[in-house]
Amino acid sequence: MSQAADVDAVELERVVEYRARSSGVVHRPDPDSDEPAPACPEADAHDDREYREVAFAAIVSHRRLCQNPECFGGDWR
Ligand SMILES: [Zn+2]
Repeated sequence: MSQAADVDAVELERVVEYRARSSGVVHRPDPDSDEPAPACPEADAHDDREYREVAFAAIVSHRRLCQNPECFGGDWR
């Protein structure tokens, strides 16, 4: 048996946040990036090094999810 493609579940264990203290938004990680980076175009607005990975379970209760379609703005809800 091969491993099932369970990418969504894996991705959602980790999310990406911008380090700026005013940011309360978290993003879906960019699967194409080796560095922590958001999947949405907001990555272009900031330096990639300013993002870090955090555990989804640790932030879900008090952070807003990015509403871009590439992150959680699609059918997430
Ligand atoms: Zn985003």
